[in-house]
Amino acid sequence: MGDMVDVEVVVVGAGLAGLVAAAVAARRGASVVCCDVRAAGGRARSDEREGFVLNQGPHALYRRGVGVDVLGRLGVGFTGSPPHPVVSGYTEATGELGLLPTSAGSLLRSPVIGLLDKVRLARVLTTLPKLQCASFGALSAAEWIASLGCTSRGAGVISALTRVVTYAGDLDLVSADAAIAQLQLALEDNVVYPDGGWQSLVDGLVAAAASGGARVLAGERATVLQASTDGTFVVRTPARTLQAASVVVAAGSPAAARALLPHAPAWELGAPATAACLDLGLRRGPATMVTYGLDQPVYLSTHSPKARLAPLGGAVVHVMRYGARTSAEDRAQLWALVRRCGIGERDVAVQRFLHEMTVCHALPRPGSGLSGRPAIDATGTAGVFLAGDWVGATGLLADASLASGEVAGRAAAENAMRRRVAGGAMVRR
Ligand SMILES: Cc1cc2nc3c(=O)[nH]c(=O)nc-3n(C[C@H](O)[C@H](O)[C@H](O)COP(=O)(O)OP(=O)(O)OC[C@H]3O[C@@H](n4cnc5c(N)ncnc54)[C@H](O)[C@@H]3O)c2cc1C
Repeated sequence: MGDMVDVEVVVVGAGLAGLVAAAVAARRGASVVCCDVRAAGGRARSDEREGFVLNQGPHALYRRGVGVDVLGRLGVGFTGSPPHPVVSGYTEATGELGLLPTSAGSLLRSPVIGLLDKVRLARVLTTLPKLQCASFGALSAAEWIASLGCTSRGAGVISALTRVVTYAGDLDLVSADAAIAQLQLALEDNVVYPDGGWQSLVDGLVAAAASGGARVLAGERATVLQASTDGTFVVRTPARTLQAASVVVAAGSPAAARALLPHAPAWELGAPATAACLDLGLRRGPATMVTYGLDQPVYLSTHSPKARLAPLGGAVVHVMRYGARTSAEDRAQLWALVRRCGIGERDVAVQRFLHEMTVCHALPRPGSGLSGRPAIDATGTAGVFLAGDWVGATGLLADASLASGEVAGRAAAENAMRRRVAGGAMVRR
């Protein structure tokens, strides 16, 4: 059974969601242990290879997203840069690359769409900031795009932009409220590529959790979560037994949460968003810095320069296919895009192919939208809370993990405090 540890809050999973939950609960005065199978960070961890910092696939943080606010409240600061402003549209069938309309200036100059689509797109760009996202939850992103009256070429451009902000390969599977909210964030103040990679956010959150007194245990899988008759919980890892008043399950996927929860939950979940990723450290920057596929769901972006991720003179380029297929098909497709953007084999110093990454475990479903995702307390067990990128009505991707982590950490601490006041406190660390 190993060590027996009594705390007030146990957090399972030390990705962004779990680290935020641990830091928030600890800062509210609860004694906290957070355990993870691996090192802290989950999908937000970065790896350093030969001086190149590689995130696990392309990662960008929305400057006006709720996640930046959560990080700020925890005192986690970072520096970074926006993406290169010139974006090319890529038509795989013909090999064409042409300036993509992403702003008023590029809209006028873009050869990719005709006059009718330019007029329609100008109207979309003007009206988009004023749309009330919540009223679009019944539609899919694809249905919303079809309603805009563009030609198939114009719809292809809007689809490419929508894929980039949602990571959904199939726009029939993500609700329009989430897509519109993401497009609004992108238009309002773009994204940032943090210097030092997303690891800098992970390191900041680990420090925030530690400064509140939370312990992060790496290399410890929670195998059992049991409710005791006195209303407390037991969480077992191979090394120890943790007893707590509250538990936050931030284990990444709904499947991992389900495997631990004492009662089978009745969630209605959307489809996952997967991606095949090629992460490159280059000796020099590419000729074409940023490219979005128009007839295929592919993406290439130079994250460094400007973000500090590469040795002097070098570059970090992330290439991706939204919706992973077989490793062989996706690898070949991504390398064709790499070559088309002017990157030769001799430019490549380091490379890593991640053939099937789960970007988001459950996209908001058309029909119910963001508000249809499971709430942090949708566990069927009072005192057990959820956090992750498929939880809560706020934000998409990491924004959802950070937002649900904050609310779950607060709720877990408050539940523990109620028990403490009622005389059932367990504060032996
Ligand atoms: C290719 C790719 C690109 C992305 N790009 C972006 C982007 O541009 N912008 C954006 O906002 N988001 C992006 N994301 C999404 C973002 O990375 C995730 O939403 C976020 O990191 C998820 O954090 P999390 O804590 O919810 O889950 P995870 O990071 O999955 O963390 C869950 C943790 O729980 C641990 N765990 C699981 N089971 C157990 C157990 N039984 N016991 C103990 N520990 C357990 C795991 O080891 C893991 O560390 C991207 C993701 C990918 C894969």
